[in-house]
Amino acid sequence: MTAPSVPVVGRFAPSPTGAMHLGNARTALLAWLHARALGGRQLLRFEDLDTGRVRPWAYDTTRRDLEWLGLDWDAEYLQSERLDVYADALARLRVAGETYPCTCTRREIQAAIQESAGAPHGHEPVYPGTCRVHPADLDRSAALRWRVPDETVCVRDVLTGKTLCQNLPAEVGDFVLRRNDGVYAYHLAVVVDDARMGVTDVVRGADLWPATPRQVALGRALGYAEPRYLHVPLMTDFRGERLAKRGGAPSVQALREGGEDAGRVLSALARSLDWGPLGWGSPGWALPDEVRAADLLPLWRARLTEAGFFTGSQT
Ligand code: GLU
Repeated sequence: MTAPSVPVVGRFAPSPTGAMHLGNARTALLAWLHARALGGRQLLRFEDLDTGRVRPWAYDTTRRDLEWLGLDWDAEYLQSERLDVYADALARLRVAGETYPCTCTRREIQAAIQESAGAPHGHEPVYPGTCRVHPADLDRSAALRWRVPDETVCVRDVLTGKTLCQNLPAEVGDFVLRRNDGVYAYHLAVVVDDARMGVTDVVRGADLWPATPRQVALGRALGYAEPRYLHVPLMTDFRGERLAKRGGAPSVQALREGGEDAGRVLSALARSLDWGPLGWGSPGWALPDEVRAADLLPLWRARLTEAGFFTGSQT
C-alpha cells in the first residue's frame, strides 16, 4: 500500500446550530477514519459564522459526543475567531477587482431570473449578474459577490470516482463572499480555512458535492493548493429523507445521556453504510454488535483500496 506522499490533514467541520444527529456522527466517523487510517492529523472546526443560528451549548455537546464515540482531534478552531483571515483573503480578491458590491434583494434576483430565460430546469437559481453591470449604490449595505471566471471547472471525487464539471457563469453565477450584514459566506470561509489549515483531504457529506467546483475555483483564484475531496453518503430515515437537525432526527446527545453504548452506535453507523466490500458482506466476516472506532480502520482502508485511492489515480 502506498501512502499519500504529503502528510494527511483531515477535518470535521460541524455547524454548532443544534445537536449532532446520527448522520452528522457518521460523517464525523468517516472523516476521522480517513485521517487516522492514513496516519494523519484530524482537525475539529466549528463553522459558527452565522451567529444568528448558533446555539452556544452545541459546541460542548458536539465535543462530548465526539469524545464519547472515541473520535479524537488534534486541534480545534472556531471560525468566529478567524474573521481577520477571511478579511485578508477577501481583500486580495477585491484589490484584484474580482468582487463587486451588490444590493439586490432575493426578490429582485428572482424577478430578474424570471424576466430572462428563467432558471435552467433542475438547477439552482443563478444570480443574473445585475450588479456586475450596474454597480450597486454603496450607501445601502451591500453584499460582496465574486465575479466568477468564465470557465468550466471539473472536480474528481477520489472516493466515488465521480467527476463533476460546472460552467461557472452559467451554472453557478457570481456568488456572495460576504453578506450585506457583514457575515463571511460559507464558501469563502471553507476554502480559506481548508487551505490555511493545511487540509489535504476533505471528507464531508454528499450534499456539498455540487458546491465543490465553485470552491475549487475560488481556491485557485486565491492561489491555494487543491485538497482531495471524498464525499460520503448522507444518512436517510425510513422515508428515504435525509436526517436534519430540525427534522427531529435522534441526537447523539440523547443516546449518550440515555445510557446507550457507544460501541453499539458505532457498529450501527458502520452497518448503515451498507458498503459490502468494506468487509462484513464477505464470507466468514461479521461486524460485531459493539466496536471501537479504531476497529473500523481496516474497513476504511479496504474502502479506499477499492476506490483506487492508493494506486495513484488521485492527485
Ligand atoms: N459546516 C458544514 C456542515 O455542517 C460542513 C462544511 C464542509 O464540510 O465543507 O454541513
